Amino acid sequence: MKIGVLALQGDFDAHRRRLEALGAEVVLVKKPEQLDEIDGLVIPGGESGTFLKLLGEAGFEKLRKFVHVKPTFGTCAGAILLANEVENPKQSGLGALDIRIRRNAYGRQIDSSIREGRLGKNPIEMVFIRAPKIERVGPGVEVIATEGGDPVAVRQGKVMAATFHPELSEDTRIHQAFLDLIPNVDKTRGIFSAGPSLSDELKQQGLQKDNW
Ligand code: GLN
Repeated sequence: MKIGVLALQGDFDAHRRRLEALGAEVVLVKKPEQLDEIDGLVIPGGESGTFLKLLGEAGFEKLRKFVHVKPTFGTCAGAILLANEVENPKQSGLGALDIRIRRNAYGRQIDSSIREGRLGKNPIEMVFIRAPKIERVGPGVEVIATEGGDPVAVRQGKVMAATFHPELSEDTRIHQAFLDLIPNVDKTRGIFSAGPSLSDELKQQGLQKDNW
């Protein structure tokens, strides 16, 4: 199993270290053709507008095809890239997640913070850096983590996104959850493996998606 980390800019190396610590073979993806060699991809934080510029039209198109068929996990700017609707300002998204996401949504005063959110019912540290906010989640999108009532990590099929930076906390659960989406890995552990789905749990707690 080879996992790519898009390494055009941003904090790709922290993802590489985390994925390697969890036993994955990691490839730093700097050229579109490397997408053909990997089983899953992480799109790191950075500046989503810069990613779009560096990808160019052909790179964007190749990446768009990839994220519609292979497991992909975007953090922060990566989450923005995966969305189908981007605000503040409007920009193109890869359309792999049916969400509307607003860039730099917390304002300048709290542009970076460490907060405690929930992964399902369990507490988890979340590092936010000039974070976007998920303003709408479509019907096919499962909310897997929340912070103060807001969805901050979501999954739709094999695509996951978080508006925070799990690669900067010691907790490995979010990256493990992503690796669990990739065929041929041990499915006996991780948050998608057993019991009711996390969105069912959240609904039981009255945190329905429509409330956001
Ligand atoms: N503010 C950045 C953007 O809009 C995202 C910040 C991040 O990835 N830490 O693309």
